[in-house]
Amino acid sequence: MTVEAQKETLEFQAEVQQLLHLMIHSLYSNKEIFLRELISNASDAADKLRFEALKNDALYEGDSELKIRITFDKDARTLTVSDNGIGMSRQEVLDNIGTIARSGTRQFFQALSGDEAKDSQLIGQFGVGFYSCYIVADKVTLVTRRAGTDEAVRWESDGKGSYTIESTDKAGRGTEVTLHLREGEDEFAEGYRLRNIIHKFSDHISLPIEMHQEHYGEEKDEPEAPEWETVNRASALWTRNKDDISDEEHAEFYKHIAHDFEAPLAHSHNRVEGKHEYISLLYIPSRAPFDLWDRERSHGVKLYVRRVFIKDDTEHLMPQYLRFVRGVIDSADLPLNVSREILQSNRLIDTIKSASVKRVLGLLESIANNDAEKYAKFWKEFGKVMKEGPGEDFANKERIAGLLRFASTHADTAEQTVSLAEYIGRMKEGQEHIYYITAESFLAAKNSPHLEVFRKKGVEVLLLTDRVDEWLVSALTEFDGKTLQSVTKGELDLGTLDDETDKEEQKKAEEELGDLIERVKTALGEKVKEVRYSHRLTSSPGCLVSEEHEMGANMERILKAVGQDVAEAKRIFELNPGHPLVHRLKEEADDQRFGDLTAILYDQAYLAEGGSLDDPAGFIHRMNELLLDLAK
Ligand code: ADP
Repeated sequence: MTVEAQKETLEFQAEVQQLLHLMIHSLYSNKEIFLRELISNASDAADKLRFEALKNDALYEGDSELKIRITFDKDARTLTVSDNGIGMSRQEVLDNIGTIARSGTRQFFQALSGDEAKDSQLIGQFGVGFYSCYIVADKVTLVTRRAGTDEAVRWESDGKGSYTIESTDKAGRGTEVTLHLREGEDEFAEGYRLRNIIHKFSDHISLPIEMHQEHYGEEKDEPEAPEWETVNRASALWTRNKDDISDEEHAEFYKHIAHDFEAPLAHSHNRVEGKHEYISLLYIPSRAPFDLWDRERSHGVKLYVRRVFIKDDTEHLMPQYLRFVRGVIDSADLPLNVSREILQSNRLIDTIKSASVKRVLGLLESIANNDAEKYAKFWKEFGKVMKEGPGEDFANKERIAGLLRFASTHADTAEQTVSLAEYIGRMKEGQEHIYYITAESFLAAKNSPHLEVFRKKGVEVLLLTDRVDEWLVSALTEFDGKTLQSVTKGELDLGTLDDETDKEEQKKAEEELGDLIERVKTALGEKVKEVRYSHRLTSSPGCLVSEEHEMGANMERILKAVGQDVAEAKRIFELNPGHPLVHRLKEEADDQRFGDLTAILYDQAYLAEGGSLDDPAGFIHRMNELLLDLAK
């Protein structure tokens, strides 16, 4: 007997125990989903076998009729799901069942709050998988043999704290999962109940799911060799006529391929014929998957070649900004032995990809045009990802830009609901640009001094506060012939929006201030690039501005926050010639005090745009000197 053959008892990872506990307590009203999860795993195992067998036919061991079988024993209260798919080696059992290795799962646990009601919703966003057996079973036995190997493994656990694993024999390859049903769960050892669940959840599974034929009403002993019958439809859903597929069927199919628990938000199903033939069935999820921001995420669009599953592709079939799209693309023309190299540089793949992208954009456009509430839901989940689009997909830039939504001064809420088209529709006569401000938070953007003149003139400004917005505006410089213009950069030229009396007043005020600009410049010295009068301000005394093509303050902060070494660009200090503090400054004859007052105005402007001062204590000291004057 080898060491490995001995029976070992191992502890579940702490997270598995936590997951099991949560699952049993939060999914009891939806018990039957365990069967879908087991069938889904069996179907994946068949896909994996088919794929490996493309290179090594011997893995079939003479049995290439892949199927799933479900048997039950009412008296013993057991239910068994078996497949002749790829099976698992001992190591695979250890890695897959008993540990939680996938990164998405890790994030899932980080998101857990301890509040059971909230957490059970989280479970909903996350595939529940194998462990869902324990909703109805108090003991589960799994016997498996990996295709092409001799050693079979038997795993068993009551789902409490530990499991056992030992070597065994198994004639056929694949996996057999036996559930010892809890007391009171007898319904899952009833033929008609199981058939119902299979119809509901697993009709779309393209493998036959077989059960023993039942002879209702006949007082007969069990026949010697029971006859098997296929109880599901067993045809690949995407190959069916699109008008014949119900929303429920789509929902179940989507849950299976996307490992999601919720129905999708929308789908697009297309059969392309002609020079190249392929079918695409693409889904937009209702909720962002946990690994949306994870570079090593494992799910994407599944590539099939003539019904044979090739891979779950995360790189070649969808661009990064549509990485949340799930579905199936089944090509009739790609070679079955399609490799990574082929995927990387294949005209057909490129054609399929670009057509699929257009389909998804079209689908989103139609939601945006017809169902604002649904689109808002989509935007909440995936807006930040969509904003990567203009920088990544040059060909579809304008279309993607049309799908973007922003917060703006129009509604003055953080909700991102304003489209560029809507903004343009509200532009003032004579307004030439789409104005925006980028800032660290909604409040910082909304209350920025840079917006003062825009508010006064009733010109709408987009409030951009997602990190990705800086990249977005560097890639998206115009929309529908209108350029996007930052309100914190360059000389502000409002063109005909400025009326003549405003201009004259400003000029008069500037003249009154005499050589103030020169004195401020001398006082601030190397700190600033330039000092000038502002056209942006109505109620603040000063603000800081960047040159048109320089990196803005917000971008600098973001880069610093991710550890990049950025030299802070000197800014232009703009003073409000109409502000009483600026006029008070002019009256100050004492150089020391003039310097202090100037420094305060400068530091305030710096703070207002979200900067953190190099010398906060100095600022406070100077402020307190002023306050003491008040107290005198
Ligand atoms: P998921 O299916 O979401 O990955 P599960 O907990 O359902 O999570 O399964 C974990 C892993 O165990 C699967 O990814 C797969 O590698 C393996 N597995 C489960 N069931 C089977 C099966 N019937 N045949 C082969 N491998 C399986």
